[in-house]
Amino acid sequence: MKHGLRSLTAVLMAILMLICLYPVQSVFAENTAETTQAEQTAKPKMSAAELQAQGILSVGAKGDEVTRVQQRLKDLGYLDGKVDGQYGGGTKRAVIAFQRANGLTTDGVAGQETQDRLFAEDAIAAPDDSPVDVLTGDVPILVNKDHPVPGGEFFNPADLVQLNKELSSKLVTIKYKKTRGVKAAVDALKEMLEAAKEDGIGKWQISAGYRTWDDQVSMLNSKVRSYQKSHKDWSSSKARRAALRTVAEPGYSEHHLGLAFDINKKGASTFKGTKQSEWLNEHCWEYGFIIRYTEEKEKITGFEAEPWHIRYVGIEHALYMRDHDLCLEEYIQGLEDGSIVNPATRDSSAGTADTAVDTETDPGESSEEPAEVTEEPAETDEAA
Ligand SMILES: [Zn+2]
Repeated sequence: MKHGLRSLTAVLMAILMLICLYPVQSVFAENTAETTQAEQTAKPKMSAAELQAQGILSVGAKGDEVTRVQQRLKDLGYLDGKVDGQYGGGTKRAVIAFQRANGLTTDGVAGQETQDRLFAEDAIAAPDDSPVDVLTGDVPILVNKDHPVPGGEFFNPADLVQLNKELSSKLVTIKYKKTRGVKAAVDALKEMLEAAKEDGIGKWQISAGYRTWDDQVSMLNSKVRSYQKSHKDWSSSKARRAALRTVAEPGYSEHHLGLAFDINKKGASTFKGTKQSEWLNEHCWEYGFIIRYTEEKEKITGFEAEPWHIRYVGIEHALYMRDHDLCLEEYIQGLEDGSIVNPATRDSSAGTADTAVDTETDPGESSEEPAEVTEEPAETDEAA
């Protein structure tokens, strides 16, 4: 009851404040519309030509000033298109990218501040965002809480394909139709799911694949918001800390690589204990995947167990990790300090045919034991 009264008071106060503030805001808007620096306030009311007369360039502007800005954007690596003196969508996107990289408001309008920065000697050039071959090299790429994707925000894996175009709906349900992954990993996924089908295990669903920087930002934000909603006494930093236990910081999620997928049983509320989970745990390695986060390795991976999150590393690496009960962190450490001979390069250096490498499982080894995992509702499946 008390609580109800308090929130009612809060709502009334908020309405009162809005009423009080309203005229002040309008007056403010009218006043600042006349000044050139208030580009945002002025934008909706003025045409591109009117703005241009004030030195503010936006979509629709044209002429030498636009050419000059375009040329500079091109020199800095932001503009791919033509330098034609026409401020169109391409120029706007280039301006936004420039603003983002230079810590400015990303409105796509080249006002005074943006132009000053653009022509400054220390203007930051476009970072290299050319697609990266994530499967090149003899060692799998490590992404975890200490190792961000190479290139951070501008990282961009090569050879992405849309899953629903590669995988038949009879084989697997793709929860979000735009889900993408790196072609080689998707091919391996296909092979694995076909084998599962032959074993009588179906009803698979993929709920996540490649994730962009922006995807991860919104995912983390929504997790923080949901904690704040369910724990009203939590500070925002506490909610963020809690969210980071299951959702990775942007740039630190394996999903950025395009090699990780969240796979579960369609319609099941938990994945743990399903036949699908058991099958995956036993066989994914044979197709080059690892179960990335297990309970027993939580302290090393830094993530709570996720029996649904698989990462493609290639068959040789996956089988080695399975047979020696290693998580990716331990495995890469071993490759780096020389305690593990890289199975991906071992054969070619010995000059022998690469048949039957480590395909036999040592019967006494841990691969038999199903990874014990924490109970997780299916809706949190897309976490790390
Ligand atoms: Zn995942």
